[in-house]
Amino acid sequence: MTNPIRVDLFSDTITRPTAAMRKAMAEAEVGDEQKGEDPTTNRLAEMVAELTGKEKALFLPSGSMCNQIAIRVHCRHGDEIIADRTAHVYGSEVGGFAALSGASLWPVEGERGVFQGRHVAAAIRPKPSNHAPLSKLVVVEQTSNMGGGKVWPLETVKDVAATARHRGLKLHMDGARLMNAVVKSGVSTSEWASCFDSLWIDLSKGLGCPVGAVLAGSAEFIQEAWRWKHQFGGAMRQSGIIAAAGIYAFENNVERLAEDHENARLLFEGLMNIEGLRVEEPDTNMVFFDVRFLGLTQAEFCELTLAEGVRFSSGMAPSRVRAVTHLDVTSDDIKDALSVVEKVVRNLKESSVESV
Ligand SMILES: *Cc1c(COP(=O)(O)O)cnc(C)c1O
Repeated sequence: MTNPIRVDLFSDTITRPTAAMRKAMAEAEVGDEQKGEDPTTNRLAEMVAELTGKEKALFLPSGSMCNQIAIRVHCRHGDEIIADRTAHVYGSEVGGFAALSGASLWPVEGERGVFQGRHVAAAIRPKPSNHAPLSKLVVVEQTSNMGGGKVWPLETVKDVAATARHRGLKLHMDGARLMNAVVKSGVSTSEWASCFDSLWIDLSKGLGCPVGAVLAGSAEFIQEAWRWKHQFGGAMRQSGIIAAAGIYAFENNVERLAEDHENARLLFEGLMNIEGLRVEEPDTNMVFFDVRFLGLTQAEFCELTLAEGVRFSSGMAPSRVRAVTHLDVTSDDIKDALSVVEKVVRNLKESSVESV
């Protein structure tokens, strides 16, 4: 029998709403969101518009829908998007950019998910052309998930934005973990946002909400986004119940992301002391490490730790493991997780000695 999960480092999506968040949800004033009559949803949208320095914002059921709607607004069929090869929008949204917007995507080889203006310049198709797709949109993922929670440097974002703008392209930020980048960098949300035509923030990751994301942009962009929200089936009714969690999160759960970053650091330092692991230095709330020198695949490693009550996830490579810290993980949990990894590695060594 496997132990129940004691320390869950699978993702920051697994957080459960706290009692205080649930109270805010239970007490939310509600109305019909599609009619613009849900006061709590309206307040959340205003809050995010102000935070990002954009004219308007739109509450949506998920981050993926934010990406898909933004692409639908910015691109026409046959247009091309430029994004990192590891981007969520490219590899983890079931080809939505092609299926829903008829766009193609030029995957850029960035470093830890971060690319430069020169990569964008090289990826833009020549114009005018009767043959090439029209390069239309650049997507930046802040922080880069598969890049190990890497924060894009502000100068790099500015370089990418200047290159794209100069060539007439639009810019969109997948800000699933933008608040982690804000807390880590000290650069304000609105300063990051000023480099983009559209951006969104996930509520259901490190911010600890059960569901939702908020997309922001110009009034014209959001007006258009409303139509696709309806077409994609994302318009809601008494959504204030879940929007209230978002308001609560922006008021209470942003600064504490620094604790998640400290816990990631603690995990990194502990893993560095375990022989056979190759550990990537964390930037925010994720630690990636390679288990190939233990002679294991990531799936085998994850199974061994899971049997001891610690859950990791796949780092999107055969022997790369991902650990994500979040609201429901304490520094004691990190120590617990480290002792489990130590035990698993020790057992492997002992069994290999016995088999010699
Ligand atoms: C989780 C995630 C998404 C999608 O967000 P959902 O709310 O799960 O749909 C998009 N981009 C990145 C980088 C993510 O980590």
